Amino acid sequence: MYNISLITGDGIGPEISESAISILETINDRFMLKFTIDKLEAGDRVLNKTGHALPTETISSIKKSTACLKAPVGESASDVIVFLRQKLNLYANVRPIKSYPNMSALKNNVDFVIVRENTEDLYMGNEFYINDDAAIAIRLVSKIASKKIATYACNIAKSRNILNKVTCVHKSNVMRKTDGLFVKTCEEISRSHNNIKFESMYVDACAMNIIRNPEKFDVIVTTNMFGDILSDEAAQISGSLGIAPSANIGDKYALFEPIHGAAFDIAGKKIANPVSIMLSTKMMLDWISTKYDDREAVFVAQRLENVIYETVQKNIKTKDIGGNYTTVEFTKEVINRI
Ligand code: ATP
Repeated sequence: MYNISLITGDGIGPEISESAISILETINDRFMLKFTIDKLEAGDRVLNKTGHALPTETISSIKKSTACLKAPVGESASDVIVFLRQKLNLYANVRPIKSYPNMSALKNNVDFVIVRENTEDLYMGNEFYINDDAAIAIRLVSKIASKKIATYACNIAKSRNILNKVTCVHKSNVMRKTDGLFVKTCEEISRSHNNIKFESMYVDACAMNIIRNPEKFDVIVTTNMFGDILSDEAAQISGSLGIAPSANIGDKYALFEPIHGAAFDIAGKKIANPVSIMLSTKMMLDWISTKYDDREAVFVAQRLENVIYETVQKNIKTKDIGGNYTTVEFTKEVINRI
């Protein structure tokens, strides 16, 4: 029995969380794999109620659970997710970018992974006002964190076994010390991995190449802020932000979430695409299968991905990807196929 802590979030968060709950309940009914779900509060609603976006009970429940599934939170996102990434040392943010059928996407046949360092860089919140008219931010890039993320990226490239290539994305021609250290460390680590090809690319060139020839990428490894920005771009060229999942992985804890935000503009309209949280659930099953050597979890993860693919292939889609199914209708279609 695995205990899943679920942050239901803000905006479209509660709507897509219901889809994730239905998927886990269906797995409970139809497979040997069993889950309990513990709904937790975090984000704007609890902030307005209590003055804290991330209650201490939520953190301790996550620590006690097998894994955390998280829907997007709103304005208080950085008080929740950035804090959790640091507090739980979820150092690797893994963002698969993959084409699905029947998308009005800019590019088809896209299949690469962005591995983003998740604990350092400008997102640590080290910002200060110098005076009323100027503020300063401090950027940390450490050798130890760079080594860990580079190792993680090389291992993903090896396990994918497609191009066996790691592209280190940086801006070391301008940020010579921080990004200089990052790219040098990534290169050193890649050399210690047999059969991994290493290339380095400036972030502006990478932003262009994601649009021009995304098929040339296999695994991108990059720092926190560049990874954040590039993954929204990459998700959009392959279809929609609404289909893009992610994993935040540490040595002890793991948290899975859509890459998109709370999308307040479509909240309550019943049109949110739940594929992002369904594929995040799939990533969670994959992680459980490795961590607990659970073969049933591998099988169910693959089954879930296949049925999402089949559903979209049959032109059953939400509005963002050119269909007219509601969140609930789409979820039912996926469940019927599981
Ligand atoms: P954040 O900065 O928190 O990542 P954001 O302001 O970049 O958030 P998102 O909430 O990620 O914006 O959404 C950007 C747009 O993408 C939304 O306005 C919405 O139209 C669309 N979108 C995002 N997620 C989904 C989804 N699951 N289904 C349908 N459309 C989505």
